[in-house]
Amino acid sequence: MLGLQFFVCDECKTVYANPPTNRCGSCERVGLREITDGLQDDSYFTAPHR
Ligand SMILES: [Zn+2]
Repeated sequence: MLGLQFFVCDECKTVYANPPTNRCGSCERVGLREITDGLQDDSYFTAPHR
């Protein structure tokens, strides 16, 4: 059970958790793509503590 939904901007690859809108905050592209189900691996994120 996940409490967060993750979305990625296909334009600049920024990932958002529960974005307030589906517009990218970095490049302002509209239409973030939900990737919640694809987060079995954490390759979308930088993991500084590994
Ligand atoms: Zn973007």
